[in-house]
Amino acid sequence: MPHLAPDPSSEQDQEQPRPILRHEWVNDVVKPLKPIFMEVIAVSLFINILALCAPIFTLQVYDRVVFSGGLTTLQGLVIGMVLVAVFDYVLRQVRARILQTVALRVDVVVGKRLFEKLMALPLRSLESRPSAFWQLLFRDVEVVRNTLSGASAVLVADLPFAVLFFGLIFILAAPLGFVLVVVMPLFAALAWYSAKAQQKAVKREKRTLSNRDTLIAELIAGRATIKALALDDRIRPLWEERSAASIEEAIQRGSKNDTHVNLSASLTMMTNVTLTTVGALFIVAHEMTMGALIASNMLMGRLLGPLNQLVGSWKTYLGFRQSVERLGEIFAAQEELKESRIDLGRPKGELGVESVTFRYQKDAAPTLDSVNMKISPGGITAIVGPNGSGKTTLLKVLMGLYPAESGRVLLDQADIAQFTRRELSTWMGYVPQECVLFSGSIRENIAQGTTDASDEQILKASRQAGVHPFIIDLSDGYGTPVGEGGSVLSGGQRQRLVLARALVGDPPVLMLDEPSSNLDRKAEEDLARTLVELSKDHTIIMVTHSPVLLSVSNRVVALDRGRILASGPSSEILPRLFARPAAPTQPPAPASAAPSLAPPGGAS
Ligand code: ADP
Repeated sequence: MPHLAPDPSSEQDQEQPRPILRHEWVNDVVKPLKPIFMEVIAVSLFINILALCAPIFTLQVYDRVVFSGGLTTLQGLVIGMVLVAVFDYVLRQVRARILQTVALRVDVVVGKRLFEKLMALPLRSLESRPSAFWQLLFRDVEVVRNTLSGASAVLVADLPFAVLFFGLIFILAAPLGFVLVVVMPLFAALAWYSAKAQQKAVKREKRTLSNRDTLIAELIAGRATIKALALDDRIRPLWEERSAASIEEAIQRGSKNDTHVNLSASLTMMTNVTLTTVGALFIVAHEMTMGALIASNMLMGRLLGPLNQLVGSWKTYLGFRQSVERLGEIFAAQEELKESRIDLGRPKGELGVESVTFRYQKDAAPTLDSVNMKISPGGITAIVGPNGSGKTTLLKVLMGLYPAESGRVLLDQADIAQFTRRELSTWMGYVPQECVLFSGSIRENIAQGTTDASDEQILKASRQAGVHPFIIDLSDGYGTPVGEGGSVLSGGQRQRLVLARALVGDPPVLMLDEPSSNLDRKAEEDLARTLVELSKDHTIIMVTHSPVLLSVSNRVVALDRGRILASGPSSEILPRLFARPAAPTQPPAPASAAPSLAPPGGAS
């Protein structure tokens, strides 16, 4: 079985501290909307007053027109009702428009806030949850918007006016009012019980859906591998298992909901029968008119309608609450620094690492263990070591992408924890192992490396990265779209474009993670020459196993299991690592000669 997305439920099923309920933020969103909600309530008041007209019309027709043959009265009543219908339509339209404004405002405010928050979260927070979780958050914004501006908002606005219908029933036919006094608590109890019964079911349904969505995200991201290895047969059981779990939970939750909705419908029917029976008894006793009974029945429909909806729309409310809490948890999460504490100016590029320890999980072994190093400005420092020794992690800690658990990283002797991400990214260019581009043109992708990149800067960076010749050969040149994630380009082209993006802002420090992994020999040698040129006034730190790049490095830091095994001038360290002489000026060692980290002094 391929190792795909871990089942997040297995983690969630373990005992975990109860998440802090955070819903205060929604008050900040709703408060400025108060005047708009007041308008909705005012319009709803008129809509509900107009709703009283139909039963009164019926009452008049039965009690006055039918028995006395008053056709003129009927004429007047019909004209009146036509006017009422027109007003009712206009008012409903107005209410819908107002609620559209609410929807728009909620979308703008919450959607923008979520986006800004995601941009401000530290990388570790973003990496700590599956991508399906982050996608779900944007669906949560939709849930909040729909609840505050959709049918549920109308229901909440209409509910208080149920009192109007209730009052009118008492005026028209008091005995029927008393029947309702008995029935209404039954509806309230049903709504409450429905809420309790569904709460857990809704949570379970959401969790299984999130498991399924995590798998979908992985299947899409890994589609080429799935095709190449024909993994469909092996993935199918996993998909079926997660899909079945989500369907089962949805059915279970749905059946609970259906039971309550159906119970509520039966209760409505029984209320109707009871009201009519009681009404008939009073009519026979000449204590109530036929019109009053029919009008009361109509009013009861208006009264019980919202109560019925209340039972059914409990899922909407629970979904809203969960979305609000999930968003609240993210809104409350700690952000990266917003403003730098000191003004450093353009750094020279001296880097210091003081007893840095870093671990991915709290109780796991440290990935970097008391790392100390000092890199003076300029020159090329190569970080070598076996897979999993912590090289990439060290680069990320050096760039401030991961905060050290203890110890400090210094840039020109200033702790980098004092600087914003934006400032650090201006000073330290980065070429990651996985070269990610974004949909857009080649020019746009290179320009992302700095603000307001000029054509000269873009051209210079492209030439340095060795992409210029291939770009001008394309029919649209720098305007050529790179496709989703840069899919139109080869791995090597992507890697060099990412290098150009890192160079365009001319950062004093450059961090490169296996920058030649996709390059051919010639491109690798070009890159080595560019790096030598850049190293005259830039500090270059690169993770590499490439003999070509190692041969131009000035210093080597050898890592093993998160500790520095050896560090010093390349001329000293490389011969120890490769057990054969290698120097910056000498021809590179053969590509097969991967570093075999021998302990310091252990190899000669
Ligand atoms: P290298 O670059 O030397 O191959 P890395 O720095 O990528 O090594 O990884 C060092 C160790 O940290 C490995 O054991 C790896 O499994 C672990 N690791 C890397 N990234 C993560 C992550 N996001 N979460 C948990 N562990 C990680």
